[in-house]
Parts: sequence; structure tokens; C-alpha cells
Amino acid sequence: MSTRTVSILGATGSVGRSTLDLIERNAEQFEVLALTARQDVSGLAEAAKKVRAKRAVIGDEALYEPLKAELNGSGIEAAAGDEAIIEAAASGADWTMAAIVGCAGLRPVMAALEKGATVALANKEALVSAGDIMVQVARKSGARLLPVDSEHNAIFQCFDRAQPGSVRRIILTASGGPFRRTSLEDMRAVTPAQAVAHPNWSMGAKISVDSATLMNKGLELIEAYHLFPLEPDGFDVVVHPQSVIHSLVEYVDGSVLAQLGAPDMRIPIAYTLAYPERMETPCERLDLVRIGALDFEEPDLERFPALGLAKEALREGGAKPAILNAANEVAVASFLDSGIGFLDIASVARETLASCDPPPPSSLDEVLEVDRQARDIAGQVIGKMLN
Ligand code: NAD
Ligand code: MG
Repeated sequence: MSTRTVSILGATGSVGRSTLDLIERNAEQFEVLALTARQDVSGLAEAAKKVRAKRAVIGDEALYEPLKAELNGSGIEAAAGDEAIIEAAASGADWTMAAIVGCAGLRPVMAALEKGATVALANKEALVSAGDIMVQVARKSGARLLPVDSEHNAIFQCFDRAQPGSVRRIILTASGGPFRRTSLEDMRAVTPAQAVAHPNWSMGAKISVDSATLMNKGLELIEAYHLFPLEPDGFDVVVHPQSVIHSLVEYVDGSVLAQLGAPDMRIPIAYTLAYPERMETPCERLDLVRIGALDFEEPDLERFPALGLAKEALREGGAKPAILNAANEVAVASFLDSGIGFLDIASVARETLASCDPPPPSSLDEVLEVDRQARDIAGQVIGKMLN
């Protein structure tokens, strides 16, 4: 593989750090143009020095001076603010990792796509909120989206893009999260610490809570719809607690292809980093004999209503996925902050969806306006719950 220039948006997060780990191990193959983060000045500066990045960008403008001080003498340029993150996204790297969490990553991703970049996409919320627009822009500019989410990366590896019509169904696997066997009654009292303790994957707080409510799988259904050319009812979810099979593609002849591997995000990240080649990773090798058996079960929509809400939003389309995502972001933040209860997260999403009905957004600005409106309404719903 020849040397590639790379930028990482959200470099201090879980996916960002896994990406940096692979880059450090193969330092001679990559030249890092920019790393970005929101507030973690020390984490950002340390990472930038380790991979000798050209530029480090902190989202919070008030942190420009501290960042500059930490980078003093390193030769690394410091920048701050949302616009500087967007600039970093559009800096023309051969490969850009989009690993900002939430709709906050949307404008940077769009900036990269408009430039015709190759974007490794972890930031599923961007695609859920603005999938149609992102795909259109990518088509126009020649940008390439390589899915990082383990399920979508698995599907990407199994999907015959030369014969899309031969695919009948896509099956996303879900671990079921930490409350797969917890009663509805006990779920009421779940604490943030319990919700972020995922049985198989180590991830950021927001996606960990989403995995516990199964909203993550719902967002992933919508994500998959934008990445692979099937109708909404062509996507199914099966609970597979071992997280060994990362997803499956069923063909018209009855053949089913799956991608398997240890639950380590460095595997899908490496796939996108070396694409279309492959690279070595230090990840644990799959030992099927030790695993012994793989289990599968139907998701329980009664205990995990978030998945049902996402299915509905996917079917309805228009502004619904963006509303669902915004309401969920606000609700999860409140839950993590010891505001609403665990089961209230899905209720906030449901009530926000019911009372917010803007026309389908047809531009990035319109998506951002839907996002803003839905956040307002979700905030009001939460305010009533807490009173
Ligand atoms: P995280 O919370 O660990 O990291 C988030 C990163 O985004 C940090 O670098 C943070 O500084 C940055 N960030 C947050 N808010 C920002 C803002 N407003 N402006 C600019 N930067 C901001 O999250 P994560 O677990 O790494 O997840 C990142 C994305 O990848 C999410 O969309 C998540 O759904 C997706 N994803 C994560 C995993 C995983 O294993 N962690 C797996 C699949 C998909
Ligand atoms: Mg996933």
C-alpha cells in the first residue's frame, strides 16, 4: 500500500482512538493531516504528537489557547471552532474517519463528501438524519462512503455490488445489550453506569446507552437503508448475544453470506483504512471451538420499543428519522445526566415523533432545522416528565 494522507474527526473518542492505534502501528504508511476533538485538549495534543499530525483542531473555541500551549514547540498547528473542524474535514486527505458522535458530525461529514473524499463513516447519526442528501452529494462529487459500523462493514464485505438485484434480504445482528434478560420492571431502575457497561464492546457513552435500549439497532436499520439498495422491509434484525457474526446478506438462491470476527472495532476500521487492500491488525483471532455455540433470538419489541420506533421512522421516511435521532440524542444526554429514567428514553422519542411533523427536508439546512425543532420539543417533553 502506498502512503496515504488521513484525517480523523473525533480523534479522542472510542473509534478515534482505535483508528489512531492502527495508524501508530503502521506509521510509515500514513501521513496524518488533521485530528479533531470537542473538548479533550490533552488527549488531542498527545495523540497529535504521537502520530505527528500537521494540525490539531479543538471544537470548543475557548480552548484554543490551552491547545496552543500544549502543542508549543511541536510544530503542530493549532486551530479551534466548529468552522475549523469543517475545514479539517475538507482538507483533501486521501481518507477521512468520521467518528464524531451525533448530528454534530453532520456538517463536517458533508464538507468531506462535497470534496469527493473517501469517508470511513462511523458517525451513523449523520446518515440517519440526512441520508438521502449525503448519498446524493456523494454521488455528485464522486465521494466514497466506507461503512465502519461493524454490521454495515460486514454487509459491505458480503454484498455483491455488481449484482445488487440478487440480494433478497439483509440481516443485522444485535448483541441484545446488557439488559437482554432484564424484566421491564427492573429496566425502570437501570442506572447510567449499568447502561454503559456493554457485555461485548467497549464504546463511547452515547452509543453504549443506544445499544442498551436497542435504539442503536434501530439507527443502524436506517443507516443500512441508505448504504445498501433494498426496500425498507428488506432489512431484519436478529439478536445474537456472542457478537461473532457481524451481519448477513441473503441472496435469491438461498445462499447467506456472513462476516465473522472478534468484537474489536479495529477490524472494520482496518478494512476501511486499507481498502481495497487488507492490512494486519493485532486483534484477537476467532477461535470457533472455544466459542462452541452461537445463539440467535427474536428482538423483544415490548421491552425495547426504540427498535419499533426506528422501524416506523424508516417506513415513514421524510423528516421522521432526523426527528427520532434528535429526540434520542437529547433523551440519552438527560438519562446520562441523571435526569430521566432508562425507559423514558424511548418515551421521549415517541412523544417527540408524535408532535413534530415538518415537511421532508431537502437540503442540509432544512435537516439542521428539523434537528433543532425536534431537540426543542424533546426538551419540553423531558421538562414535563421531570416536573
Ligand atoms: P465517543 O463519545 O467515544 O467519541 C466522540 C468523539 O466525537 C470525541 O472525539 C469527541 O471529542 C467528538 N465530539 C463529540 N461531540 C462533538 C462536537 N459537538 N463537535 C465536535 N466533536 C465532537 O464516541 P464513539 O463511541 O467513538 O462513537 C463515535 C461514532 O461512531 C458514533 O456516531 C457512534 O455511533 C459510532 N460507532 C461507534 C462504535 C464504537 O465502538 N465506539 C461502533 C460503531 C459506531
Ligand atoms: Mg454497530
